[in-house]
Amino acid sequence: MARKHDTDRKPSTLAAQAMGWLDPASNGVIPAIQPSTTYARDENYEKVGGHGYTRDENPTYEQCEALLAALEEGHEARLFASGMAAATTALLALAPGDHIVAPTVMYHGLREWLLEVGVHWGLEVDFVPTGDIDAIAAVIRPGKTKLVWIETPCNPTWVITDIAAAADIAHAAGAKLAVDSTVATPVLTRPLALGADLVMHSATKFLNGHSDVLAGVLVTARDDDWWRRIHCLRHRNGGMLGPFEAWLLLRGMRTLYLRVARSCDSALAIARHFDGDPRLVDVLYPGLPAHPGHGVAKSQMTGGFGGLLSIRVAGGAEAALRVAKAVKLFVPATSLGGVESLIEHRATTEGATSPVPVDLLRLSVGIEDTDDLIADLDQALGA
Ligand SMILES: *Cc1c(COP(=O)(O)O)cnc(C)c1O
Repeated sequence: MARKHDTDRKPSTLAAQAMGWLDPASNGVIPAIQPSTTYARDENYEKVGGHGYTRDENPTYEQCEALLAALEEGHEARLFASGMAAATTALLALAPGDHIVAPTVMYHGLREWLLEVGVHWGLEVDFVPTGDIDAIAAVIRPGKTKLVWIETPCNPTWVITDIAAAADIAHAAGAKLAVDSTVATPVLTRPLALGADLVMHSATKFLNGHSDVLAGVLVTARDDDWWRRIHCLRHRNGGMLGPFEAWLLLRGMRTLYLRVARSCDSALAIARHFDGDPRLVDVLYPGLPAHPGHGVAKSQMTGGFGGLLSIRVAGGAEAALRVAKAVKLFVPATSLGGVESLIEHRATTEGATSPVPVDLLRLSVGIEDTDDLIADLDQALGA
């Protein structure tokens, strides 16, 4: 009875109907949550539908994973308890002694993990500004480099990395390319089609979109040794999310394409409105022609430049913090990709080791009225 759409439908169609599954028991349009941790064997003592124990065998995960694999045009997707659980599982599926290349400015939590845990565990890491393809090539050690990890657009300066060029460099050296595509979402970029081997998302952000689920996902281009090791580590280490979270994520993704389109439109309008404003030192947004990554963004992103931008406030850290305290509509909170707009002073959040400029405020643009958002920033920036 459960119906599944052909995956040749447009991604927004697949997302809106969550692949078209119906609840087999009732024909409900929304699939049921399967909360069971264990599954009875049949009369031949066989597992039914491959389900034995729910650490990584649960129909609620499988529907969500099938949709994510379809949206990313990948071979398979696997859910994790958080974006960090997803990313670190991919990294721990390498071997001690492997060399990896990562961005100088990247998602702060993963950068800290690489420094605190990854290096201790035996990974050798070079941090380079990956927006400059030559900087990646310069540190590649053929035979030793096993992974190039990029994030595009990259937190919180929105540097763009050319995915196809990075894939060519990695592959020529026998390494893989992984892309943290949390900010781009499958709506705006499909890294696997551009040559990446693995895509990672913090599904906590745009994929779920409502700031009420912590989840992560990896999507692979193909079934290979690395992917099998990732799957094995998920099973062994147990960093799974609960079925209720998977169900909420599937529900959130029904509106993914509408939410991302609206965030992109508003972010571009805000960036254009404040570009050149004398109260600001800079507006960082890949949709502005002056952004160094604009050309690559235009060719590798489809339908928008993302819902994230940063402003650098004239007057330094103090002035930036004054703005973060003066907003009335933007919520002064960390995270991104929810329906509500957030503003954050990243240097405060990241602490002393942060490479982020102290005058920078990160804006995550939600789905509120664009003019309301512009008016709020305008009043917060003051005279
Ligand atoms: C939030 C985030 C992560 C980490 O994801 P969690 O779900 O918080 O563990 C990784 N990368 C990016 C770009 C993020 O924004």
